[in-house]
Amino acid sequence: MAVTAAGSIARGDAVALTRELVRIDSRNPSLAASGPGERVVAGTLADVLRAWGFRVDVRDAAPGRPNVIARIGKSGGRSLMFNGHLDVVGVDGMVHDPWNAAERDGRIYGRGSTDMKGGVAAMCAAAARAVDAAGGSFDGEIIVAAVADEEFESLGTRALVEWGVRADAAIVTEPTRLAIMPAHRGFVWLEITTHGRAAHGSRWDIGVDAIRDAGLLLAELDRLDSDELPRRGHALLGRPSIHASTIEGGIGMSTYPDRCVLRVERRTIPGETADQVRAEVEAACARLASRRATFHADVRVTVSQSPSDVPVDAPIVRALSRALSASGEAVAIEGMSAWTDAALLNDAGIPAILFGPGDIALAHAAEEWVATEEIERAAAVLARLAGDWCTQRGTV
Ligand SMILES: [Zn+2]
Repeated sequence: MAVTAAGSIARGDAVALTRELVRIDSRNPSLAASGPGERVVAGTLADVLRAWGFRVDVRDAAPGRPNVIARIGKSGGRSLMFNGHLDVVGVDGMVHDPWNAAERDGRIYGRGSTDMKGGVAAMCAAAARAVDAAGGSFDGEIIVAAVADEEFESLGTRALVEWGVRADAAIVTEPTRLAIMPAHRGFVWLEITTHGRAAHGSRWDIGVDAIRDAGLLLAELDRLDSDELPRRGHALLGRPSIHASTIEGGIGMSTYPDRCVLRVERRTIPGETADQVRAEVEAACARLASRRATFHADVRVTVSQSPSDVPVDAPIVRALSRALSASGEAVAIEGMSAWTDAALLNDAGIPAILFGPGDIALAHAAEEWVATEEIERAAAVLARLAGDWCTQRGTV
């Protein structure tokens, strides 16, 4: 069935490919219990790209969680990676059919339409069109990486980097409404345990209230968020931030709680590290401990992901700006609020920026759609960029 569908999509037809990909449920099984993962969607995309003349490798990033790596052009020349994820989030609360790719008013509706099957389709079509436009003389190589699990642990792009897949630059086609986004925030998840002493509720003289201590710490973190963090900034991303995520503790109404676990999330800007973030929270704990001898807390980083930052005058940003202008599009350079796989590529030494069709505000939402004309415009810009980048036309 996948082969039949693949055969019906004309080479370089980004909109038809978007429809086909949206029709395939690829919910991330780590986020949705019944999610089937990327296996079927990856198989279909691999069939399409083979039919379009790509050299295609489908390889598991984890058991049953494949990446599609498809190459076109000549290896050894200048290279450009297009990277996009095939997994989507759950569909609870959606107000329309998530999988029928219904079209109304020039929009394709469905889970993953904007985040980010429109972007994946645009990048695949662009790669094919760039090579076609060059006739027989395409000297560089375009690597299309359609990856697994971006929505959870980024197993796909982590594996890609581990396998040694490299390029001179990368475009991650997450939804940016065709703005260039060279930077995004990182995040650090912290688990802070305050330790009290359990005692009968009447025994104020021996009980130590771990929940109150967590509250005192929250007040310190609020000062950090309202006084200190606004003083830091990044030209595209603005200030960093911290907020409480969950809190647990307490035994019963008449017992001093012996323990409270507070989880907080800190969103970082380029230049901030997980170690620095942990040290800030430890310093807040130390200030409290100096005022109250009974205050005692452990601070642990449970997850952290780096921010991503490519300079706005980097060659790939300039090349994409030129491709936009040459395509008659406005050039907007903005920051992305959410974390993406671009950070992993940057950490591996591949300058990676975001550019794609669709609006991140519709990602993971009850209603999700992507405008077909935006997919087309993105594909046209990306095809021009790939041609210019790989053949070094118009580079400054
Ligand atoms: Zn996404």
